[in-house]
Amino acid sequence: MKRVIYLDHAATTPTDPRVVEAMLPYFSDLYGNPSSAHSVGRKAESAVEMARATLARLLNCSREEVIFTACGTESDNMALRGPIMAAAERGQKGHIITAHSEHHAVSYTAAQVAALGLARVTWLQVDRAGRVTPEALTDALDQVAPGEVAVVSVMYANNEVGTVQPIRELAALAHQRGALFHTDAVQAAGQLSLDVAELGVDMLSLSAHKFYGPKGVGLFYLRKGLELLSAQTGGGQEFGRRAGTHNVPLIVGMAKALDLAYSDLPARVDHYRTLRDALIDGVLALPGAHLTGADKAGRLPNHASFVFDGIEANALLMHLDINGIAGSSGSACNTGSPKPSEVLLSMGYPERLALSSLRLTVGKANTLDDITYTLNTLAGALERIRAVRVAQGV
Ligand code: PLP
Repeated sequence: MKRVIYLDHAATTPTDPRVVEAMLPYFSDLYGNPSSAHSVGRKAESAVEMARATLARLLNCSREEVIFTACGTESDNMALRGPIMAAAERGQKGHIITAHSEHHAVSYTAAQVAALGLARVTWLQVDRAGRVTPEALTDALDQVAPGEVAVVSVMYANNEVGTVQPIRELAALAHQRGALFHTDAVQAAGQLSLDVAELGVDMLSLSAHKFYGPKGVGLFYLRKGLELLSAQTGGGQEFGRRAGTHNVPLIVGMAKALDLAYSDLPARVDHYRTLRDALIDGVLALPGAHLTGADKAGRLPNHASFVFDGIEANALLMHLDINGIAGSSGSACNTGSPKPSEVLLSMGYPERLALSSLRLTVGKANTLDDITYTLNTLAGALERIRAVRVAQGV
């Protein structure tokens, strides 16, 4: 089979073979339920607790602050629903402050919690780069009424446009007003520091499949002492925060993957930057191409995203796919639907351009030859698509 040039690492990454190797015994020989008191269960429990200790070290938090979940989506849901439901139980109203440019796991959850009457939502305005400014957050915090439990949720780095948010500053602002601060760090993991003490966040979400770990496992960091209503009721797993039998192999795999990601971080990020910069410089030299999101310094090291004059993203992605290049028009969950990107619309792009977005995200195995081939293919595809439009009089 012809090798596919995979440039969609923001959608998912292949599981590192060392991670697969670490997980394998927990599917077979070490199959115990960590909640069982006997020796078979204790072996599984010990693996879960070793994984928790590794992750706590990498996040610079304590073990009790690490909660295992099934994905980034679940962690995001917990961050919004947990404190708001706990407030509802005390008879208090919630107030969520977030943006339409967040992943749907956050923005749709906020909308649903509001529709259920449990909280009000104040939507943050983002700038042209997709950034939440301290001024925008201050204005939103002004809307919080006395007695409301406020939760601010701003992602660390945007999945569609790669913009990195000023998390430390925003979290500090939220805390000055007594609000809780959550960050969705799903895209940032394996590229930016996840030191929760330094970031000053109360809650943080991760998903293993974005950093060469397995799909179907996530992490939710919850600062000690914060009240949260359990997402699922049932057993007492995860300090009573999240019921359900532990997925031991995947938990072991997530810890291994994050450990690997931070053990060679500087070299890998350098590699990403070299490829990404070649990609950005090459694409911007093509006619009618525009970078979306922040400039090189303000975006994820592996992330390049563009819009194009006179181009429909689906046609472009098809051309790339036929030529063995896997890219994306933005969030993987939305691929296939011809709706304009909500992220770009919220950043002020007109619908015409928001329908032309291309996201290319590099990974460990990519090379400069991959980038050269992609740039040549892209140049040809843009020319052909525009020629067809001219011929059709569109
Ligand atoms: N948050 C962001 C920023 C994401 O990019 C994604 C996945 O694309 C998610 C949350 C959801 O993570 P998961 O796929 O683990 O549910």
